[in-house]
Amino acid sequence: MSRPVIATLDLTALRNNLDVVRRAAPHSRVWSVVKANAYGHGLDRVWSALSATDGFAMLNLEEAILLRERGWKGPILMLEGFFHADELALFDKYRLTTSLHSNWQVKALANAKLSSPLDVYLKINSGMNRLGFTPDRVHSIWQKLREIRNVGQLTLMAHFADAELPEGIAEPMKHIEQAAEGIDAPRSLSNSAATLWHPEAHFDWVRPGIILYGASPSGLWQDVATSGIRPVMTLGSQIIGIQNLKAGDTVGYGSRYRASGEQRIGIVAGGYADGYPRIAPDGTPVMVDGVMSRVVGKVSMDMITVDLTPCPQAGIGSPVELWGQNVKIDDVASAAGTVGYELMCALAPRVPVVVSQ
Ligand SMILES: *Cc1c(COP(=O)(O)O)cnc(C)c1O
Repeated sequence: MSRPVIATLDLTALRNNLDVVRRAAPHSRVWSVVKANAYGHGLDRVWSALSATDGFAMLNLEEAILLRERGWKGPILMLEGFFHADELALFDKYRLTTSLHSNWQVKALANAKLSSPLDVYLKINSGMNRLGFTPDRVHSIWQKLREIRNVGQLTLMAHFADAELPEGIAEPMKHIEQAAEGIDAPRSLSNSAATLWHPEAHFDWVRPGIILYGASPSGLWQDVATSGIRPVMTLGSQIIGIQNLKAGDTVGYGSRYRASGEQRIGIVAGGYADGYPRIAPDGTPVMVDGVMSRVVGKVSMDMITVDLTPCPQAGIGSPVELWGQNVKIDDVASAAGTVGYELMCALAPRVPVVVSQ
């Protein structure tokens, strides 16, 4: 028997979540965002379950090449474009759509020797002040691009900083409209939050990431609980030890948790070296033998300690869900002061992954 911690990927849920996106944005094409190794799920494991998508968006050249080698012939959008002019030969070879967000990229594309033009996503800085051209510069860059022989189809692209808020896209949309004035081109603006909650921003291509994997763009599961999306990743393990505490006994490093009376504690294989957040406080939800319980005591590198009071029947070998179908990754993340995105991306390489079709 090997160490029982294991991640299971439910590809039926992944396909379902793409369907949810289709229903939410019925008039748009879909870039399935698979950056960061498909948000930690493993691009090679999951991409074929998303093959009903219109395109894949990512930012790592190796991942794009992997998709081509696996036989994906549809569009691939590189969300941050090329990081160095040298890469344009590979963009050409593998027919990658590039984002352009900086002047040096425009020059590099103009000077590249390509076999045929590349499709371009011109990135507007809509107020997030991360990547992109400010709205007042977009028109002139646009015109410059139209004169470059290496530029194929042009699309306007922007990204929202606050699309999970009801009024969160109002200001950015003003910037985008200003930038797009006099430009007749397709647009791609919407991340998951805008795909679910701002249909006025859907336009030609939406770019959902997190909802494909079954977590909430707001960090709160309740915000997506009725959307139809389902968690794809379950991080499971088992109880490998039991302790019976008396009043005053403590658990784990720093003796953070102290029992107020007799209490049974389960020791679970799985810790921060598996990707479980070390910062998770006492009370972080966990499911033991089908019953909701809580973390008690600090998360160690390889172990977590959980309260067995709600599940007296649990013992060595009882199944534990750290996150997944029942314990929402959003709830674990918010207990730990982060978001589901970070936890799924941080699934550690040492955790074995099994895929269920
Ligand atoms: C990551 C990313 C997305 C997807 O964001 P989600 O919140 O996961 O839906 C869309 N567009 C860009 C540019 C991104 O970087």
